[in-house]
Amino acid sequence: MKVTKKIVLEEHDMPTQWYNIVADMVTKPQPMLNPQTREPITQKDLEVLFSKGAAEQELSTERWIDIPDEVRDLYRIYRPTPLVRASGLEKALDTPAKIYFKNESVSPVGSHKLNSAIPQAYYNKIQGIQHLTTETGAGQWGSALSIACKHFGLDLKVYMVRLSYEQKPYRKSVMHTYGATVIPSPSDTTEAGRAMRAQYPNTPGSLGMAISEAVEVALQQPNTKYALGSVMSHVCLHQTIIGLEALKQMEIAGDYPDVVIGCFGGGSNFAGISFPFMRNNLVNGAKTQFIAAEPALCPKLTQGKLIYDYGDTEGFTPLIPMYSLGHDFEPAAIHAGGLRYHGAGAILSQLLKDGLYEGRDIDQLDSFKAGVLFSQVEGIIPAPESTHAICAAIQEALKAKEEGKEKVILFNLSGHGLIDMASYDRYFAGDLH
Ligand SMILES: *Cc1c(COP(=O)(O)O)cnc(C)c1O
Repeated sequence: MKVTKKIVLEEHDMPTQWYNIVADMVTKPQPMLNPQTREPITQKDLEVLFSKGAAEQELSTERWIDIPDEVRDLYRIYRPTPLVRASGLEKALDTPAKIYFKNESVSPVGSHKLNSAIPQAYYNKIQGIQHLTTETGAGQWGSALSIACKHFGLDLKVYMVRLSYEQKPYRKSVMHTYGATVIPSPSDTTEAGRAMRAQYPNTPGSLGMAISEAVEVALQQPNTKYALGSVMSHVCLHQTIIGLEALKQMEIAGDYPDVVIGCFGGGSNFAGISFPFMRNNLVNGAKTQFIAAEPALCPKLTQGKLIYDYGDTEGFTPLIPMYSLGHDFEPAAIHAGGLRYHGAGAILSQLLKDGLYEGRDIDQLDSFKAGVLFSQVEGIIPAPESTHAICAAIQEALKAKEEGKEKVILFNLSGHGLIDMASYDRYFAGDLH
């Protein structure tokens, strides 16, 4: 019998609300703190940096939050995204497991990041904000926010981690094409950047550093706000559209996942694919296992400590209760730039503490090996970040084979790697360790 390769939803089946897992958590996440007063952060505090809409969602305990029509209209450019049966991968592994992936690489910028970029730009626009600043690691978030800002008529300045700026020049070209200004970080344009360069002249930069620069500009320049592409609860909320669609699609496929997997940088795509399914663990007694695949060289989930820490290097952001390697942690120059971040968001940290999911460390060479196999049997070249999820899915499929079990595995393909071919070249040249 032929398996259905692709499960697609009609546009009118696209979810109309995002899912806020906080409403269903037994132990609520610890509050973020105002770094000056050390009191729980208020919406007013958050509004200094973020749009009103984002600030409100950050603290919301409502279970379902409406997706504005203007946001849904833009989502329709690429959503609903397909759920794909990885039949080629199943065959290559000779596994009894059924493997599915949600294909977020079909967005015009090639990743899931647009799911949050669109609403964030929208909430700033309706508030009359004219300028946004942000950081970008691998360039995925910067690209996504660039097109979202262009659509809503906002001007955008992107601080891009210097290592990525040099390794991924085409990402910069994408942002330019969409009309954004791109500055390699640390830079000489901010106090934070100049201080960092004085202290570490050859630093490849990090997301934490780039955030410091973007926040500094947002605080000093009039009519300017800042937008963050991961970690924050409102970002995780926006990404739940991934899992909400996948829930419907798995139902059409007639399967329910035993294991759900996502790669993990700050946690937003993992939250997106997993929270709607985790809800069934929390309220309906489902027993799905959730695995967050992180780089062994940036192991905040398995090696980090749950502490109050800053989201950036300089300490401009609120104090976030997070599993963290320390805000001054300098991650190794791995190629999965989007996973080079020191901490996990507040909701995700509480869920980890409560054992609702596990972190799994993936070695860089194993991740590329998995990415190459996936490219050859499924035809999509995955982003270096996404190869971590693929690698964990392969591990689970091989385990199912050993145990002779027919297991259902779902992972999120967070993005494609077509702008990351230099990383693949280095892998093939034996340059990665
Ligand atoms: C940014 C990015 C990630 C990591 O970020 P999360 O917030 O953890 O999802 C993963 N994959 C891709 C393709 C990315 O662009």
